[in-house]
Amino acid sequence: MNLAAAWIRVSTGSQDESSQVRAIDKYAREHGITIVKTFRLRGYSASEGAQEPALREAIADMGRGEYDTLIVTESSRLDRREDLDAQAEILLAIRSIGGDVLSISEPTFGKSDFAGRIVTLVAQHANAEKSKTVKATTYRGICMIRDNGAHHGHLPVFWESEGKRYAKQAYCTDPQAVNDIFERISKGESLSSVGRAYDLYPNSVKNLLRFGANHTGVVECSYTYEGVTETWTHRVSPVVDSALWWRANAVLDANKTSGRGNKGGRPVARPSNWLSGLLPCPGCGGKLYINGGLTPAGNPRTPMLRCGGYGKRRVSCGRFRGTDARPVVALIEGVFSEDRSDILAFQRVAGNAHERDALNAALRKIQAQFSAAEDDDEFDALVAERKAVKARLETFVVVPDRFDYAPTGQTVAQMWADGDDAVKRRMVRAVQAAWGLVLGFVEGKPEILMGSGAEDAFKDRNEFADLGNGLCFRWEADRAA
Ligand SMILES: [Zn+2]
Repeated sequence: MNLAAAWIRVSTGSQDESSQVRAIDKYAREHGITIVKTFRLRGYSASEGAQEPALREAIADMGRGEYDTLIVTESSRLDRREDLDAQAEILLAIRSIGGDVLSISEPTFGKSDFAGRIVTLVAQHANAEKSKTVKATTYRGICMIRDNGAHHGHLPVFWESEGKRYAKQAYCTDPQAVNDIFERISKGESLSSVGRAYDLYPNSVKNLLRFGANHTGVVECSYTYEGVTETWTHRVSPVVDSALWWRANAVLDANKTSGRGNKGGRPVARPSNWLSGLLPCPGCGGKLYINGGLTPAGNPRTPMLRCGGYGKRRVSCGRFRGTDARPVVALIEGVFSEDRSDILAFQRVAGNAHERDALNAALRKIQAQFSAAEDDDEFDALVAERKAVKARLETFVVVPDRFDYAPTGQTVAQMWADGDDAVKRRMVRAVQAAWGLVLGFVEGKPEILMGSGAEDAFKDRNEFADLGNGLCFRWEADRAA
């Protein structure tokens, strides 16, 4: 007697499947009903009548006595079709085999056979009408939007639309910020870094960069009604020039590699001093750490460089007894703060392919504007512009791109002076990796050995010390200790 099937329908979009499941489970528990079967229909709208086979299956089940009730959260879940005969047929079929439909949110639904049927038919007819009316009114609105050439659809950040209903005009709220974002990205700044500067998610920054109307001044709008997609163009004032739009988008494309994903890992504690953990122990080759801080009496200790051994074990080897850190710090400071060699960046030093790309971008912009041209004058102007760009493209002589290390205008000494602890550590590490940088003692006095002086440890000397981020500096002969 108390066996039932749950009927759950979610059309694509907003409706929530799990909330229907929870409501039906709760109702069944409170009324001593056991759910023996669950029909789940998702991904398509009930107004297309696609659930009919499932209804027929439910009727067949009830005919065999597997359960006698179909539970829904509201009657609109059952059917929203316009064919009242088909609805009546299904409901009569359920009643005629002794089954019933139970709607949790409509207590009067199916209380008596006669009233139940009437309520059911009326409710379902209303559902069908509502579905039809909503669609038709939406479509009428969209037609007006289309005829007005108004905006419809999503906009990225810094873009909004204003104006009367059906005549909304999209516009950029902050062209300066948009230009700045395009500039930053085209210069290689990361999405998350730009996002931090503007309090945006990296994805919002990306959507803004991909929004073509930023440079074409044309938004492609579309709406699909009864399987037919309408498209129209909406004109806006462009805010960035095509070359810049192209450069920033080229950077995005170039960064679409699998190597850019998050590789996991966890943040580690900040070292208390930039030198801590950088120099190898003269005794065992482990790492030297700075022990400093205060004595129990509150006086500052003499900061000492002591062996911290290897990796996780962090046990001193005992062969190196430690040394005052201050002269060592002064020595390394001396090495870097007097180094006048240029910081170099890997840059294009010749080539004009980027100019051709900018011309191609201009061509695409003209192409997009064609579709939105309103009068003959505008059209003629576009044709002339297109001819001019085409002519320039045809006579364009490509000078192949050549990349090389070019000075950034900054010296090693300046970078050292301006850098925080992280920069200093990176610089010392770069030199260590490229040329070697070790601590030695001559007559008990500490010395920093680089290059040939450290050659025992570093046989292969590189030409460049790589600082990461495409920056480096070159080995200078006088750097050898
Ligand atoms: Zn050691």
